[in-house]
Amino acid sequence: MTYLFRPKNIQALQGLIQKAPLLAFDFDGTLAPLVQNHEGAKLSKKTEMLLKHLAQLYPVIIVSGRSIKDLKSRLRNSKWLLIGNHGVEGLQKNTKHANQSKRLSLHWQKSIEQVLDSTPLLAKIALENKTYSLSLHLRYSKNKAAAKKILVKAAMQLEPIPRLVHGKSVINLIPQGLPHKGDALLSAMKKLKKSHAFFIGDDVTDEDAFSLKNKKIFSVRIGKKMGSSAKYHLKRQSEINRVLKYFLQINQ
Ligand SMILES: [Mg+2]
Repeated sequence: MTYLFRPKNIQALQGLIQKAPLLAFDFDGTLAPLVQNHEGAKLSKKTEMLLKHLAQLYPVIIVSGRSIKDLKSRLRNSKWLLIGNHGVEGLQKNTKHANQSKRLSLHWQKSIEQVLDSTPLLAKIALENKTYSLSLHLRYSKNKAAAKKILVKAAMQLEPIPRLVHGKSVINLIPQGLPHKGDALLSAMKKLKKSHAFFIGDDVTDEDAFSLKNKKIFSVRIGKKMGSSAKYHLKRQSEINRVLKYFLQINQ
C-alpha cells in the first residue's frame, strides 16, 4: 500500500486517465465525511460540485452499503449510477433474489428486535432495515465491544445464517450468495463497456472490490491499513477533492 500522491503514483493515475476509466466511489467515509449520526452524512458543497463536473467527463458510480432510496435523498444528481446495499441493488433486476432478500431481512428483523428489546446492554443499538439487508448501528452504544459480541452471537443463530460484514460502528446482515461491491463494480464495468476503473473506499465491505486483483482496476483506500488489498491509499477523507480534481485535470 502506497500513498497515492507520490510522484510515481500520480504518473500511474495519469496513465489511468488516458484509458477513460469508470470512476467508482464508496459514499460514507469516502465521498462524505464520517459523522457521529449516520443520518446526517452528506457531501460537502465542493465535493458535490466536483462530482457533477466529473459526471460530464466519465461514467460515475456510487457503490454504498446504504439503500438506493437513502442515497437518492443525499445525492441530487441523476447522472450518477447508484448501487446500494453493498452491491445488491441497482444493477440487475433479479426479482427472485430481491424478493427472497426482502423476506429474509424482515424475518431477521423480527428476531433481532426481540434480542434488542430483552437486552438492556443493547438499548442504544439502532436497527435499520434496508429492504435487502439489515444494519445494526452501534455508534451510540456505551459498551460497543460487549454489544457487538451479543449481536454477532444473535446473528449467528438466525436461520439461514446471514453474511456478516463489520463496518465502522455497524454490523451488516446480508443474505448469503448475493453480489458484493466487487461483483457490482465488475458488472458496472461490463454494462458501461469500460475496460478500466478507479475505485475508492474506506471500509471492510470495500475490500470485496479491492481484492479483485484486476490490474485494470485502480484501487485506493482512505487511510493506510495493514492487510488491505487496496494498492494505494490516501491519508484522510478530506483528500477526496484533490483526487476528483486530478480527474478533472484542474490542478496541474
Ligand atoms: Mg465507507
